[in-house]
Amino acid sequence: MGRLVSTDGLTDIQQEILKTVRQFVDKEIIPVATELEHKDEYPTEIVEGLKELGIFGLMIPEEYGGLGESLLTYALVVEEIARGWMSVSGVINTHFIVAYMLKQHGTEEQKKRYLPKMATGEVRGAFSMSEPSLGSDVSAISTKATRTDDGYEITGQKMWLTNGGSSNLVAVLCKTDEGADSVYKNMTTFLVEKEPGFGETAQGVTVPGKIDKMGYKGIDTTEMILEKHRISADQVLGGEPGKGFYQMMDGVEVGRVNVGARAVGIANRAFELGIAYAQQRETFGKPIAQHQAILFRLAEMATKVEAAHTMVVRAARLKDAGERMDVEAGMAKMLASEYCNEVVEASFRIHGGYGYSKEYEIERLYREAAFMLIGEGTSDIQKMIIGRNLLKQYKA
Ligand SMILES: Cc1cc2nc3c(=O)[nH]c(=O)nc-3n(C[C@H](O)[C@H](O)[C@H](O)COP(=O)(O)OP(=O)(O)OC[C@H]3O[C@@H](n4cnc5c(N)ncnc54)[C@H](O)[C@@H]3O)c2cc1C
Repeated sequence: MGRLVSTDGLTDIQQEILKTVRQFVDKEIIPVATELEHKDEYPTEIVEGLKELGIFGLMIPEEYGGLGESLLTYALVVEEIARGWMSVSGVINTHFIVAYMLKQHGTEEQKKRYLPKMATGEVRGAFSMSEPSLGSDVSAISTKATRTDDGYEITGQKMWLTNGGSSNLVAVLCKTDEGADSVYKNMTTFLVEKEPGFGETAQGVTVPGKIDKMGYKGIDTTEMILEKHRISADQVLGGEPGKGFYQMMDGVEVGRVNVGARAVGIANRAFELGIAYAQQRETFGKPIAQHQAILFRLAEMATKVEAAHTMVVRAARLKDAGERMDVEAGMAKMLASEYCNEVVEASFRIHGGYGYSKEYEIERLYREAAFMLIGEGTSDIQKMIIGRNLLKQYKA
């Protein structure tokens, strides 16, 4: 284990969890990741292994059968997993966001119903805001839930559901008519139950199939079509309509720490591959690591990995302390994802022509890094969040 991405002040339990996950990643994930990714094959065995380790319940409170760990522990676990294969961290991320939203905003009945089964991985979560015509602009959501005598009826089309096929519980953000003057107060999160798989997976719920992606393969990303899907009022997250936007934004905030952590994991792996290759490959009579241009490149890569890790840890610790951290989460996500792309590209360049070959892991990381710039809000959107908050705090 190298010296990068170490974290001060961890408890014995946190250290033990990270050690176990790192061993699992080295033994069970890294050796098969690239092959599975090229085949776009779902990592069933790896997911079963993560269930056994309790990772699906990492942040779920102990009273609901989870490990009751902090966001920091979660972020550090994600760094380790993404170092092995980013897609695997995607399997747990939307699950984690839905569990977090239930923990923070669910009714007691909803928590009792879902959290124990989420802790074991029997219930698997996906979360759905995006639609074909919107991602950044959540206010434009058009999927509509209309009141009926005994609940609601939902109609609309959702897009880009990570784990859309493998999940059986989807938190879906819909427009509802609360008569409020703000569009944000006329949105409600519904807990939609469905069967895993594709086709009509519940009454009025169709998951057409996997979207073919550039990277982030293995994991299923889907559309979801809702056509007069009938749902009871008990499935409104928190029991009260009109709060969906704020609940989702709370989920996305911790999701940003998660994507930042994934970016650190990918960058750390790219650095490991780069520094190893630079000592093997010789040009002009010496290992390329001894050419100063390569040495400096390695130094810059390591510095970026450390800086990104530090930002992610700080954002997670603030959240764990109960503080607002939208600025810090935005900064961490933006910096970690931009640095991730720079570090991966630097490692790719160190690999010369071989970096372009599918035989080398860096080719996969190159495609994975790009998604870090998009998921949980692009860098432009992070800048909007950071900038607007700064203007409030530094009001002239
Ligand atoms: C593989 C994958 C998995 C995903 N998983 C999920 C999921 O599980 N659940 C879910 O709900 N969504 C998911 N998404 C959707 C993702 O969150 C959106 O793609 C993302 O938020 C960007 O939205 P968009 O694609 O609509 O881009 P747009 O919002 O159309 O943005 C296009 C470009 O315009 C820029 N832009 C937009 N608005 C502004 C502005 N105001 N100022 C400056 N620049 C701006 C953006 O930065 C971007 O460069 C996933 C996406 C992908 C690719």
